[in-house]
Amino acid sequence: MTEGYVGEIFNSVQGEGFYVGRRQVFVRFAGCNWDCIYCDTEEFRNFRPDTCKIETTSGARKFKHVRNPMRYTEVLRHVRRLTVPSTHSISLTGGEPLLAGDFLVGVARACKRSGFTTYLETNGVSSRAMRKVLKYIDVVAMDLKLPEHQAAPRSGWRRLFEEGLTCVRLALKKGVNTFVKIVILPSTRPRTVSHVSKHLAKLEVPVVLQPVTPARKVYDAPSMTYVCRLAKTAAKAGVGEIAIIPQVHKLIGVL
Ligand code: SF4
Repeated sequence: MTEGYVGEIFNSVQGEGFYVGRRQVFVRFAGCNWDCIYCDTEEFRNFRPDTCKIETTSGARKFKHVRNPMRYTEVLRHVRRLTVPSTHSISLTGGEPLLAGDFLVGVARACKRSGFTTYLETNGVSSRAMRKVLKYIDVVAMDLKLPEHQAAPRSGWRRLFEEGLTCVRLALKKGVNTFVKIVILPSTRPRTVSHVSKHLAKLEVPVVLQPVTPARKVYDAPSMTYVCRLAKTAAKAGVGEIAIIPQVHKLIGVL
């Protein structure tokens, strides 16, 4: 598929995970079929927005609108235009990029062949789509969901979790630099963190615990004392590398 739906393209600073502070061009693929209670990109859950917001000049925060669907060659043209010398990589984000299927593969391949470092931010919804795109990806930031996030009906969480773990396994096997991000709510239970961490420990993957920024149906952040307690729980379950990193882009007021 050479064309697809994009929500926005802009240059900013990565605000989450182990690559925090790195300047990136963000390509936000449109569409997500999950429903996390803290979702801060709700407007981009729509799969078929009429237009894509594109920054006119790197870092200017001024946008123009172009019609969707876009060809991946057009996406690449904007990525090139918005790349500045301090840019670390191209963030392929969403919504949920894996749901863009072959269009994601087209954009990732085009970026890779143009010499860019590619950074995939995903919730791991489809190991089939992950398999297809991995050879064009340098970094995977896996946003693993907990039952408390209410991304899917409670009965469906286990399947989503297994699929996410499979995506992590595939990325590690391929030698892709991979880490897992877990959003921590005040309602996140130690028992959940312990259960998830036991699986992650077996994969020997680094983990970021990200205290939630209140949004949508979440009105409070967890206390740092509580997040530190959960970090201890994850360590006891065998996770070797753990960092606590909030959403820094929200703290410094960038996109
Ligand atoms: S997976 Fe991401 S985009 Fe989808 S609802 Fe959850 S936070 Fe929002």
